[in-house]
Amino acid sequence: MSIQTINPATNKVVKSFEEMTDKAVHEAVGQADKTFGSWRKTSYEERAALLHKVAELMRKKKTELAKMITLEMGKLIAQAEGEIDLSADIIDYYATNGAKFLEDKQLSPKFGKAFIRYSPIGVLLGVEPWNFPWYQVARFAAPNIMIGNTVLVKHASIVPQCGIAIEEIFKEAGAPEGVYTNLLISGKRASELVSDERIKGVSLTGSEEAGASIATAAGKSLKKSVLELGGSDAFIILEDADIDKTVEWAVVGRLNNNGECCVASKRFIAVESIADEFLKKFTEKLSKIKVGDPMDKDTQLGPLSSEAAAVQLADQVQRTVDAGAKVALGGKRPDREGAFMSPTILTDIKPGMAAYHEELFGPVASFYRVKDEAAAIVLANDSPFGLGGSVFTQDIERGKRVADQIDTGMVFINHPTWTQSDLPFGGTKRSGYGRELSELGIDEFVNKKLIRISELSDPF
Ligand code: NAP
Repeated sequence: MSIQTINPATNKVVKSFEEMTDKAVHEAVGQADKTFGSWRKTSYEERAALLHKVAELMRKKKTELAKMITLEMGKLIAQAEGEIDLSADIIDYYATNGAKFLEDKQLSPKFGKAFIRYSPIGVLLGVEPWNFPWYQVARFAAPNIMIGNTVLVKHASIVPQCGIAIEEIFKEAGAPEGVYTNLLISGKRASELVSDERIKGVSLTGSEEAGASIATAAGKSLKKSVLELGGSDAFIILEDADIDKTVEWAVVGRLNNNGECCVASKRFIAVESIADEFLKKFTEKLSKIKVGDPMDKDTQLGPLSSEAAAVQLADQVQRTVDAGAKVALGGKRPDREGAFMSPTILTDIKPGMAAYHEELFGPVASFYRVKDEAAAIVLANDSPFGLGGSVFTQDIERGKRVADQIDTGMVFINHPTWTQSDLPFGGTKRSGYGRELSELGIDEFVNKKLIRISELSDPF
């Protein structure tokens, strides 16, 4: 049984689920396709009303939905409540702004008149990760339902209750059957499903391996794909940064969501003159973090999402240390039940070591000391990933100059990489392609149809 709720704070199985049969999946795709025929004809007002209702219900049930997130993947309860609020905001955002984003766009051709009309393309498949069980789905589902597409969501196998709860809320809000469908299937079956001719596009948020599998399947059947993959964000600290504030953000940037964020600050790159001060203060703060039960409001760091995730992270740390890196803090798993990892800082990391090239998905910070700003930029860009990044400086013009030279999809000045409904989200390099959120996020799975009106007097 691979689809299970296992509480990562105890590693105990809470509930198991049967995968959907091939027949049930076939019928679900058929229903989504049939519903697309009518859903595409509904007005923007109708779609917006559904989405607003979904957001309202989410806010109403916030406490129970947040507990479900914490139970299934270990997020701190206050952050789980924050995730429900953020996801409801995203859904409201597309309900409120979708029609405006999708208005006809008038063109000014040399001859005649022309405009672009936005229309839906059909059934979409979203493959989503466990780390933000509601937020990731909201980013994909809300803009696409607003366009008039219908969506199938294959959620991560470790958050089945969240996946089911999302579908139930859409139903309760009055969504016609087939507008939003949860698929209880494995990742492998999701890749196989891409070739179904009734599915017109696929979006995946997750690892590089899963992304490559989905992109291969999409390429083979000539379908559009969007990939939001891993990251190893640099957090650059220049000599004119406000160190105390920067250290506070460094802790938030590394530990938010128990460190399991694609855009967590993972590589801390400090210029020589302030490196010692930053490392000392950062180590002090991380050493005082209270590790414990994520349901307890006083806990500052919960477990990782699963025992497998904790084993993998501890192994990455060990391989890095075996190769010559030093441990400034932590380095081991704490002696307690559950999928925990101690807050850790690694230093003296060199190219070739695991921490230099791999994504560390948990509370492990990589610390680097560099000569100056130019060296910080070179190191920040020496990564297979290109998702986000930060630069800390009190000189905003300097921050913008540095941001311009970092090869990622997002750079934040004086803040860890962050997210909100009206800011585009996405990466370059091995972090994927395409964008979610903001006006750009409604632009991926839409037919931008040219309509041209000719005058009889126009030349051939
Ligand atoms: P994962 O293993 O790739 O899982 C993500 C989703 O892909 C799950 O639903 C999973 O299903 C499915 N999947 C796995 N193998 C697949 C395959 N061969 N074909 C199709 N689908 C497949 O990722 P994860 O390790 O759980 O999640 C963490 C990763 O996601 C990190 O690398 C993180 O940086 C990235 N992430 C990126 C963003 C972003 O916006 N860029 C946001 C959040 C997370 P099962 O659960 O059934 O295996």
